[in-house]
Amino acid sequence: MGAVRVPHKPLLLLWLLGRLAATGSSAVSYADAEEPVGRLINQFGPPAQRATARQRAAMPFVHLERELWDLRDAIGGLLGPELPERRRLLLDLSATGRLHEHVERLLADPATLAAAARLLLDRHFTSALAPVICDAVGLDVAMPVEGSRLAVVSRRRRSAAFTEQVLRVYAYSCAACGFDGRIGPIPVGVEAAHVRWHSQHGPDDVSNGLALCSLHHTLLDLGVLGLTPDRRLKVSELYIAQAPAGRAVYDLAGRPLASPRPGEPLVDVEHITWHDRQVFRSDAA
Ligand SMILES: [Zn+2]
Repeated sequence: MGAVRVPHKPLLLLWLLGRLAATGSSAVSYADAEEPVGRLINQFGPPAQRATARQRAAMPFVHLERELWDLRDAIGGLLGPELPERRRLLLDLSATGRLHEHVERLLADPATLAAAARLLLDRHFTSALAPVICDAVGLDVAMPVEGSRLAVVSRRRRSAAFTEQVLRVYAYSCAACGFDGRIGPIPVGVEAAHVRWHSQHGPDDVSNGLALCSLHHTLLDLGVLGLTPDRRLKVSELYIAQAPAGRAVYDLAGRPLASPRPGEPLVDVEHITWHDRQVFRSDAA
């Protein structure tokens, strides 16, 4: 229930699933995994603190659950989870990991593999990030998994009332740009966003919600957009765009969020702080 996002192991697992799907084997040396896994953690993990991208890959490589993962040195000796998570050591040992044979066998079924990936994405990320991460690890899990037992046990019940309530409170308009498209009576392209992610114990509450157009919802979830304690928008200094539509995002910096209807709660500063620390892309190391 911690407030800190720790997506390192889920990201390593997703990367292994992609590799397994592509090659039929999840076996990989630390030397080969370090760069791509470090990059995933940098892109989709919380903003980096002290550890470098490369060092960040060592943590999940050492600590992935041994029920799933077999880690050995160059001569086949087992390496336990008590090994220090140091990249130099992993390289010197020629550490190589592989999902257990019975796990690989289960995942040979594409529906099971897709369900496992969905479960990881659901539990640790947001719906806006899922397709981007799938793309980054080379997974296609768009297939329906409703019938899957894994998928059913994984989902916290999502409150449809939350979506309705948030959209209503913000008058079916994007709180960032004012977009209010509709077809007849039906709003289009406006969504209810959680500030603190639902998968990270963010409550289904108006004080944790914002109505946002699909673009600004995605940019909030990806940490391009952030919120200040006085409820203004900020834009990551890492964000780059050339075309006018992309550059329009810069203009949002400093803009106040639209207010909810009178009597309805503003976004809680506690959730803003969580987003700022765990999601917003800042290059402050
Ligand atoms: Zn918008």
